[in-house]
Amino acid sequence: MIVAVAAVVVASITSASSVLAVDDPILERRTIGASVQGRPIEAMRVGAKGGPVVVVVGVIHGNEAAGLAITDELLTMKAPKGVELWIVPTMNPDGTALDQRGNANLVDLNRNFPYAWSKMGKPGYWQYAGPTRASEPETKAMVAFFRSIKPDLGIWYHQDLNMISPGKGFEGRVREKYSQLTGLPLKRITGGTYTGVAATWQRSTFPGVGAFVVELGETLSASDAVVHAQAVHIVSMMVRDR
Ligand SMILES: [Zn+2]
Repeated sequence: MIVAVAAVVVASITSASSVLAVDDPILERRTIGASVQGRPIEAMRVGAKGGPVVVVVGVIHGNEAAGLAITDELLTMKAPKGVELWIVPTMNPDGTALDQRGNANLVDLNRNFPYAWSKMGKPGYWQYAGPTRASEPETKAMVAFFRSIKPDLGIWYHQDLNMISPGKGFEGRVREKYSQLTGLPLKRITGGTYTGVAATWQRSTFPGVGAFVVELGETLSASDAVVHAQAVHIVSMMVRDR
């Protein structure tokens, strides 16, 4: 009798997990590289290949981790039809684990990208740009990954200035839409020295719509994370339909 019950339980677990597998919105998982301390950097595709490519990066500065709630949410949602959506929860897994801005070499990865790079600071300086352009394994992994997917749009999460910089042309309209949907005001982000910046590198390297930074606030509620995930879908559809 006990054996029979066990068999029924196993059978129902098996059928439940095969149903889940069919509904799983994640269609592809790639390990695109490893951090200085050897942590994997993961990218997940939701949405079929063929449409415009949109990539969302939850974390680049390790101590600005609110974007993870948005990428977690996006990984449970089917992408809009005709959009190839890629999610990178964190490109700085060491910084995320250590709760620090830079990677394990104390490099500010958002000053290390190979466009308009300039030497800046030393380890310990908050915007330390690294010894050379794209010196860090995390930056190299993202550069190679982006070259392979050729994104049309990138969305990069930061904290905690609570704003989105305005943009020009169609990219400006996408930023404006995202701002309206989430309530983050459109204001010029200032206060840093912006060399070797990831979104600027993306915009200058790939034709298409471009890339922008979303500066979240100090905290992000679970319902805010859902609003942001939906905003990603809506601006992705703008790119698809333009
Ligand atoms: Zn930041």
